[in-house]
Amino acid sequence: LKYDVVVVGSGVGGYPAAVSLARKGLKVAVVEEHLLGGECTNYGCVPSKAFYHIGEAVRALRKVGGSVEVAWEDLVEWSSSIVESARRGVGYLLESYGVEVYNGRGVLKGKNRVLVQGGENLEIEGDKIVLALGTDPRPLTQAGFDGVRILSNREIFYLKEKPLSVSIIGGGVIGVETATMLANLGVQVNLLEKGSRVLSFLDQDVSVAVRNHLKQLGVKVVEGVSVSSVSKEGGGVRLRLSNGSEVESDILMVAIGRVPKTSGVNLENVGVELDSQGFIKVSTTLETSIPGIYAAGDVVGGPLLAHKAIVESLIVARNIMGAQKTNIDYKLVPLTIFTGLEVASIGFTEKELNDMGVKFVRYKMPLNYLSAVKIKDGSYSFIKILTSEDSRKIYGVHIVSPNASETISAFIPMALGKLLFEDVSDIPYPHLTVGEALREIALFILGDPVHIVVRK
Ligand SMILES: Cc1cc2nc3c(=O)[nH]c(=O)nc-3n(C[C@H](O)[C@H](O)[C@H](O)COP(=O)(O)OP(=O)(O)OC[C@H]3O[C@@H](n4cnc5c(N)ncnc54)[C@H](O)[C@@H]3O)c2cc1C
Repeated sequence: LKYDVVVVGSGVGGYPAAVSLARKGLKVAVVEEHLLGGECTNYGCVPSKAFYHIGEAVRALRKVGGSVEVAWEDLVEWSSSIVESARRGVGYLLESYGVEVYNGRGVLKGKNRVLVQGGENLEIEGDKIVLALGTDPRPLTQAGFDGVRILSNREIFYLKEKPLSVSIIGGGVIGVETATMLANLGVQVNLLEKGSRVLSFLDQDVSVAVRNHLKQLGVKVVEGVSVSSVSKEGGGVRLRLSNGSEVESDILMVAIGRVPKTSGVNLENVGVELDSQGFIKVSTTLETSIPGIYAAGDVVGGPLLAHKAIVESLIVARNIMGAQKTNIDYKLVPLTIFTGLEVASIGFTEKELNDMGVKFVRYKMPLNYLSAVKIKDGSYSFIKILTSEDSRKIYGVHIVSPNASETISAFIPMALGKLLFEDVSDIPYPHLTVGEALREIALFILGDPVHIVVRK
């Protein structure tokens, strides 16, 4: 069983390379030990955004005094149907291009050989190998996942019954997104963060705005606390916190980070080097320490985001076809957080620029003058742009606003240096969208704003 390329892992870091290479005529196999589509399709982006969509609809109705009781089991069934459809889509793509899919765990047996353990237990060969192994949720040291009371993102979107209360440990992206959607759906949520603020890796103004928004939704946000002990009591979970207080809830969700899935696949014996946290080390062309073995997606570290994984997967495919394409600049990978009052950010924060000693100019403009923002309840909305002194180079864009996750796409060409403020100041961005703020901020920076009063 010989292939040109064997891809281990069928998530967004794996299947795009497989499809792209097979379309160019290479003989490709994919080895997948669980579900086609990986974390994003089955337990991450897709079900979380399905829940988010319904949660936001409920929140919108409440604004005009409306109320709706979402039948939890119907929500889970509907969300699962979207997941299934996305998963089938991945299978369809692979099948359409003649990619052979093996079910089982891929274990490296050498530079060109992969043992498919489990179902089929056979060895396959590939001239090139792509490792797109992804990550697992990191468990608490005090108590592991039990799938019933102590959950990760793998179970929270598939619960048979709606929990009355959920405590979430970890105020990172997954924690705040899950807190938002559950609160909108009428679940009482405690969000516990060890650092001094939720989303502490983001621009401070951004994380403060998200914290205020979460509180407005009724989420109990507790920052600066760690968990001393976890005990399952009665039908729920009791947490003892470092500040001496206790928190009880039906369910505990742990969202404290991700662990690369690099153990048990014999990488070290074949010579594939890992970094100190277990992520696969890659060159700028995404080749591992063993020539001919590439890696892409979450398993190589950097921003653990699907769009970054997809692009890396495609870069690997091109390099296998003989290109020498270098990987994307991780600072130009937009980060998006789906929290109603959404967050989107690209480039550096003020703190990072200060730490690097880079001189910059900071423009901050409120966005709640836009009716598109008012309609969607964005009272804390703003955009912050950090530029060089002549404003010709953009160092960072940070948006806090409804629809920020879509709006940031309009800023990417500017962050890449392909558009200047002068260029966008007369572009007719569609009204009534949040994206039209781009023209206004350009005018603002050029000293000629229409909707912002600048007093002399
Ligand atoms: C709750 C949640 C919400 C998210 N929302 C978003 C979002 O909205 N937008 C966004 O950009 N990102 C989001 N992400 C991140 C996104 O899911 C990941 O960046 C993406 O899944 C990474 O893809 P990957 O292919 O690298 O890894 P994975 O998706 O983890 O896929 C790895 C695959 O490899 C398989 N595998 C691993 N080891 C082996 C082996 N030895 N043999 C065979 N198969 C193996 C696994 O079973 C899995 O299917 C979210 C993540 C979570 C947890």
